[in-house]
Amino acid sequence: MLRLILRDLCGSLCLCGESGCDMKGVTCPNCHSDRSRRGGRRIWTVYVALIAAAILAVLIARLHAGLVAGIVLAVIVFAHLVFDERVCLDCGAQWRPRRDDN
Ligand SMILES: [Zn+2]
Repeated sequence: MLRLILRDLCGSLCLCGESGCDMKGVTCPNCHSDRSRRGGRRIWTVYVALIAAAILAVLIARLHAGLVAGIVLAVIVFAHLVFDERVCLDCGAQWRPRRDDN
């Protein structure tokens, strides 16, 4: 799971070439560039909100930091499943790729 998140965070840097790697073969519907990464405004909004909520939870509610971190990771993974958006590095277009690997 950690590897999945790291791959998402570095996005365009993925050069692994594995057949199951979703960084390959995604082209921008706007300019047909293949330089894209997973992300988008909604994902970043979720990240920022989660981090803020986690800090508040630990500092104010005094919840266990490890527990909060686990919840944050789970919600980030869930958010990626819900907001499966990609951002074009060339023109900035955002779109939802079609999953056609099955
Ligand atoms: Zn583009």
